Amino acid sequence: MKLIRFGQEGNTKPGIINKRGQKLDVSSFGEDYDEHFFETDGIKRLITWLSKNIDNCPKLGKNERLSSPIARPSKIVCVGLNYAKHAQESGMQLPKEPVLFFKSTSAICGPYDDVIIPKGSKKTDWEVELAVVIGKKTSYVEEDDAMNYVAGYTLHNDVSEREFQLEREGQWVKGKSNDTFAPLGPWLSTRDEIENPDNLNLWLKLNGETMQESNTSDMVFKIPELVSYISHFMTLLPGDVISTGTPFGVGMGLNPQRYLVDGDEMELGIDGLGTAKQNVKDYK
Ligand code: ZN
Repeated sequence: MKLIRFGQEGNTKPGIINKRGQKLDVSSFGEDYDEHFFETDGIKRLITWLSKNIDNCPKLGKNERLSSPIARPSKIVCVGLNYAKHAQESGMQLPKEPVLFFKSTSAICGPYDDVIIPKGSKKTDWEVELAVVIGKKTSYVEEDDAMNYVAGYTLHNDVSEREFQLEREGQWVKGKSNDTFAPLGPWLSTRDEIENPDNLNLWLKLNGETMQESNTSDMVFKIPELVSYISHFMTLLPGDVISTGTPFGVGMGLNPQRYLVDGDEMELGIDGLGTAKQNVKDYK
């Protein structure tokens, strides 16, 4: 099952992509894809509902805006330096255990929305990532059991301002949280759709030029380990996002370094999770 949300911010509606690749409005199901939906077996309930109602679900218009495929979660937990070559290009040691940081949930936007360079920014950068969406409330889950708490996966561009992140006092959160710094989607693939999340190609192009190209098999800490590890420090709630880290090829790692400017176009994708495209604009 592929879940989407569509419409303008503040007035988004739930949808799905059917087997034929058509986008359908399922707002008459009556629920958004939020904490309550996931906690109460919403995916199963939606499948049951669709078995009777799918023929009455209107198709989306071609120009309909796609929103993030999930409602705003309680948190976005990001994993830093989870690909060996990216740690190297960042000039950092490979961590002995996962590096965690938060990204504000107000940074979430749709997969085709503009990414806005914040006021005073000179070093806005890209990061294609596999994002895991939690399906059930969990704390202290064992690695063997961790995947039972995953609802599915989506594509995430962990947009980052390197000066705010690394050259200002304190923690990485400052460089990760500006508005539009978390484009999610185009869709959420439920867990059963992705046979092996540890073997997915992911890539990002800037103005048509490939900047990042890797495979999730290169992740240092794999998904079950991450879910289990994080759940030992905080309760994960349904709908929460774990972004699993970015591979080699960010602008900060280039020589000379390269950062986003007004007019740039980022295109990114992961096997099975579709592609997204964001135009870069200055803050106005
Ligand atoms: Zn990241």
